[in-house]
Amino acid sequence: MPIPSATSQAVRSRIGKVCVAITGSTAAEMIERASAVVKDSPFLEFRLDYLEKPLAALPKIKSFFAENTAATGIATCRRKENGGKFSGTLAAELEVLGKAAGAGFHLVDLEIESAEALKKGELEKLRETGVALIVSFHDFSATKDLEKVYDRMVPFQPDFFKIVPTAKTLTDNVTLMRFIEKMTESANIVGVCMGEAGIISRVLGLRAGSSFTFAAATQGEETAPGQIAARTLLETYRIDQVDNATKVYGVAGNPIKSSLSPIMLNAAFRRETVNAVYLALQATKVNDLLKLVQELPIQGLSITMPHKQEIMQHLENTDPLSAKIGACNTIMRTQDGKLYGFNTDVAGIVGPLEKRISLKGAKVLVLGAGGAARAAVFGLRDRGAEVFILNRTAETAQKLARQAGAKTIKKEAVAKTQFDVIINATPIGMAGMKGAAMLDAKELNTKLVFDLVYNPIETPLIRLARQQGIPFITGVEMFVQQGARQFEIWTGKPAPEEEMLRVVLHTLRQQAEAAVAEAPVPTKATTIPTKATTKPKKAS
Ligand code: NAP
Repeated sequence: MPIPSATSQAVRSRIGKVCVAITGSTAAEMIERASAVVKDSPFLEFRLDYLEKPLAALPKIKSFFAENTAATGIATCRRKENGGKFSGTLAAELEVLGKAAGAGFHLVDLEIESAEALKKGELEKLRETGVALIVSFHDFSATKDLEKVYDRMVPFQPDFFKIVPTAKTLTDNVTLMRFIEKMTESANIVGVCMGEAGIISRVLGLRAGSSFTFAAATQGEETAPGQIAARTLLETYRIDQVDNATKVYGVAGNPIKSSLSPIMLNAAFRRETVNAVYLALQATKVNDLLKLVQELPIQGLSITMPHKQEIMQHLENTDPLSAKIGACNTIMRTQDGKLYGFNTDVAGIVGPLEKRISLKGAKVLVLGAGGAARAAVFGLRDRGAEVFILNRTAETAQKLARQAGAKTIKKEAVAKTQFDVIINATPIGMAGMKGAAMLDAKELNTKLVFDLVYNPIETPLIRLARQQGIPFITGVEMFVQQGARQFEIWTGKPAPEEEMLRVVLHTLRQQAEAAVAEAPVPTKATTIPTKATTKPKKAS
């Protein structure tokens, strides 16, 4: 087993837990990006392979390190055939890394394929420059044979063994973290899983014993699939505070990338000083999720599309409404590993309505007959409301009406009927979704409108209600309420609803601003599409 050298111990004492990867197409761009993050995150990896002429950039980087003496730098010049961007030869890579120490770097990253191709004496020459050596391995397709990878690295006696496989499943993270736990006594291991499903290892890898982890400088500057921005890792996931007592929660679904639940629930845990972290779990299969829950173990889960129904058969028990609806969005795991299901979507819909009106005998029109509509219809019937369903596919509406003791209504009848509430439980109005509204102004005969869509905050339906002077509830309120009830089920504490609402509104506004900034300015030659071309993203 390799013994950590004096160099690696010296470097270990000055590096942070998060290394921020710096990219750029020119040295000036890299320095600008490095300067923007160095105060908060002084541990930086300069991806020299992103530059056309890495050697020419070294004097500028030397000045950066001279001005930022607290910074610690890794020089990486990974060749194209090994997953990097450098098109030069091995000798050229070695020349760059050989001059790294002179430019102020403390560490160099040499990929295993290059290390194995070195001639006798070349590695020693590199080490004589005084840098600590990271030997790195990347697998862009799987998480497998980690011990074999380690054995391949041992002959080079690196100061750090960097092992970066790809998580195809959630449990691949467990494989990597068990490996780190096992090896960390005898070597400095740096391990993360790439890919959307790899977030568990990015947040919990340090707890497993990884010497440090990697982050992007900002969102959009990722150097590996699934990499997270440093600020998100530190502020949302608070990875520098994750310890052995930290409880793990998450939202499981597919797709999950755009879910706002991690921002909202992590903010709630932070506000209430609960030692817990909440992860976005990219779950393509329910079985993978169930295996993860047993192996990690995860204390509680939010379940979103498309698993809300399939998960039911794997639960020990559920609340009566979940059983009636046939779907649950919340799981609590007991100490002995049993899973209990709840449906907080119902509370997210009924709660905001009951704050404003009495539902007993209220006449409610529900648009849609999918998952959210089912929660609305069963929840409203449970409170004694008279419920009418209008759906694009009439048969689905009829089936739901039969199951819940509700009625269906034809489009022609809507304009002639006065409702107390109209609820939109279709994706119409979601950002990126183009399509005709289900109701026009003269069909909005109601005292209250509730649009379950929460992105954008002001949907076309909400705008219409506002224009007509009809009171309304936005989907953000449902989103916060269903999340608040989850927080309470898991922690037994009242949820910090104001803080949850604040972070959700802040994020949605930021996203809206970014979308405006990114939107192309139409020119005469640009054709503006008139038909629905984009599928909406689902996430809760
Ligand atoms: P779902 O199960 O896929 O159901 C979608 C429903 O909308 C179906 O009844 C579908 O009709 C109808 N629909 C879809 N596209 C349509 C179109 N272009 N025109 C007319 N009807 C259309 O989805 P879900 O889980 O119920 O979610 C629905 C919406 O609720 C989501 O988009 C989301 O924005 C919102 N939601 C919000 C929260 C929150 O916390 N605020 C939580 C969950 C959901 P067919 O039966 O004809 O397919």
